[in-house]
Amino acid sequence: MEEEILIKAQDKKNKNEILLYLLNNKGKYVSGEELSEKLNVTRTAIWKHINGFKKLGYEIDSVPRLGYCLKSSPDILYPEEIWKDEELKFLGNKIYYYESIGSTNEKAKILAINGEPHGTLILSEKQTMGKGRMGRKWESPKNEGIWLSIILRPNLSPEEAPKITLVAAVACARAIRKLGINCAIKWPNDILYEEKKLAGILTEISAEIDRINHVIVGVGINVNTKKFTGELESIATSLYLIKEEPVDRKKILIDFLKEFEYFYSKLEKGNFQDVLKEWKALNCTIGRNVKIIGKTKEIEGIAFDIDGFGALLIRKNDGSVERILSGDVSLR
Ligand code: ADP
Repeated sequence: MEEEILIKAQDKKNKNEILLYLLNNKGKYVSGEELSEKLNVTRTAIWKHINGFKKLGYEIDSVPRLGYCLKSSPDILYPEEIWKDEELKFLGNKIYYYESIGSTNEKAKILAINGEPHGTLILSEKQTMGKGRMGRKWESPKNEGIWLSIILRPNLSPEEAPKITLVAAVACARAIRKLGINCAIKWPNDILYEEKKLAGILTEISAEIDRINHVIVGVGINVNTKKFTGELESIATSLYLIKEEPVDRKKILIDFLKEFEYFYSKLEKGNFQDVLKEWKALNCTIGRNVKIIGKTKEIEGIAFDIDGFGALLIRKNDGSVERILSGDVSLR
């Protein structure tokens, strides 16, 4: 079933200053007067907004004469939670935030065709038809992970698009490693922990022969999933299962976005070597015996490197080298 519940679609420049003020003064009382003067809004408007935030799950105390105090935030990826961090330059300048959606990548494609700008973020608490590669399904249960897509309009040739997958993988692995989790990148698009899948990346591109129209980078990170069932039980894991405690999704999300901007800017400046270097340091594919199952053939050999375009280089048993652009890799 594909249900779509949009909570809000907004530009960063129209962010809700009242919520931001409360977030930045968490645990402190701020008076209605102070809010009203600083933000140039009426007391009635403030009261209305506060009620709206409470409905979203923000715990806000209101005490006569003292004012409002934000006690706790709900575990939701509400756009202001991202905007309160002022370091991001282009990612999330516009955010579409859903409670539920079919697939963030599918939505991003439509929005990109409609002209939404570079850096637009599509976030959902849940996907009912989350996608993996080749039409496979990505399980995205409500509030358990980070399910997002980014619209990019890079100045790259279509053959360079795989570089963006590497940027996303590096950003994702680095954000997770900040928690002290030794995850690794499996070429081309998975983040593994002890051989189990913790996160996946799905890059989709719309291009002409010589230029890219847009790229959609989809990212799914299993954060607080307590139990996987069926086939996932043996192949998937989550940050919760590794840390044995709940993990703050907002922090991982913001760290990921920052890392993504950092490495994406290297790519934009023609400094892809730095991305490659980091990717190589974080990967668990190079040096391994692998079997690649492609659309038309299977290849076995040693994955000995990736090239400047992000293609995997395999040395087969007969000594010949194959350059792999896509396919399913099983590590031996
Ligand atoms: P891969 O790159 O590993 O071939 P895909 O990118 O195609 O995988 O992702 C889809 C596959 O990932 C599914 O077929 C399923 O086996 C697995 N999968 C689905 N949902 C999840 C999840 N939340 N966490 C980990 N693995 C998942």
